Amino acid sequence: MLLAKRVMQLKPSATLAINTLAQELKASGREILSLSVGEPDFDTPRHIGDAAIKAIQTGFTKYTAVPGMPELRAAASGYFNSQGAKSAPDNIIISNGGKQCLYNLFQSLLNPGDEALIPAPYWVSYPPMVELAGAVPVPVPAGVEKQFKISPEDLERKRTAKTRLCIINSPSNPTGTVYTQKEIDRLAEWAVDSNVVIVSDEIYCALVYPPAQPAGFCSWWARHPENFVIVNGVSKSYAMTGWRVGYTLAHDALIKACNKLQGQSSSNICSIAQKAALEAITGSSDSVAAMRESFMRRRNLAMDIIATWPGVNCLCPDGAFYLFPDMHKLYNSSMPDSTALCKVLLDKAGVALVPGIEFGDDNCVRISYAAADATLQKALQKIGQCLLGR
Ligand code: PMP
Ligand code: GLU
Repeated sequence: MLLAKRVMQLKPSATLAINTLAQELKASGREILSLSVGEPDFDTPRHIGDAAIKAIQTGFTKYTAVPGMPELRAAASGYFNSQGAKSAPDNIIISNGGKQCLYNLFQSLLNPGDEALIPAPYWVSYPPMVELAGAVPVPVPAGVEKQFKISPEDLERKRTAKTRLCIINSPSNPTGTVYTQKEIDRLAEWAVDSNVVIVSDEIYCALVYPPAQPAGFCSWWARHPENFVIVNGVSKSYAMTGWRVGYTLAHDALIKACNKLQGQSSSNICSIAQKAALEAITGSSDSVAAMRESFMRRRNLAMDIIATWPGVNCLCPDGAFYLFPDMHKLYNSSMPDSTALCKVLLDKAGVALVPGIEFGDDNCVRISYAAADATLQKALQKIGQCLLGR
């Protein structure tokens, strides 16, 4: 069948593909421990689910306005304002997860040939989404030796007349790195001076582990709304990946552009999920704090085990739920890269991880610790036995 070049050239999402493979292997009867996908293992908190049940029972089952129901736009605006933005509901659009927020943004901001700076390691979906807008992803390397952090000087070296935007993702997927507010301020100053739009993906902002402090671009948005765009959502903070709710804070002209696009593609997001998200944002945040504590405990548990692996360099991340150990010293002629290492682990140890090459760094592999303590512990022990005989 003849398919469009656009889709022929499109790379499937590696994180989702490996998760599907792990599920298929499990269904075929093999014991597979998956630390591949970035998805909280917790159930969505009860009070949020109850709000959705009430939405169904009271007939809140029709189309809403394309950018979301007014109360939810107001609640998202209120959330961003609590972080330093001075926004109105018109500065918000609700989309199908952070993913559609980003897709809409790149389609609305990028012309063919424009360049988007993407600090590497990066989340798997950024480069394909930029390419779908006809633009060019420009990776800016920031490896383990730089604590996985990009500086304005690194970005400036890659900036050209075609640079339109730069994606910053803190806390980061796949490294868990968290920028300090001071570091963010330096990046923001560079963006304003060079007239580059920063698209800040803050989807993991609720998962920052003390003593690290959450930091972001909201107060910069308040002063320079044309230079900054902020994406957030409920998937990671509230264990709501399946509900598909994300929100974008942007200049109202950009929100109108995203609204036009969304109106012609997916319309509003699910009305019931909107009621659930409203409860998530405005209701009790006790469960968020409890989940954050569990993730922090798991991070420590995993770091303790990995610290006993000779030749493996793993930074202790301050946020999200990923570890990104540099394992290249374990590579050899029959296991020469991160893809081969992950294949060995899947075949011999029954553990699913994502190869670092998918995130732009072939020295590393990604371990998601959004898994039950027992699964995490067992999977890491199997990795140690398989690769290091311990
Ligand atoms: N950004 C990053 C960095 C992510 O890891 C994810 C995870 N899927 C997303 C955005 C999108 O999440 P969602 O669409 O579930 O809101
Ligand atoms: N963001 C998660 C991950 O990186 C979920 C999968 C996806 O959307 O790519 O595993």
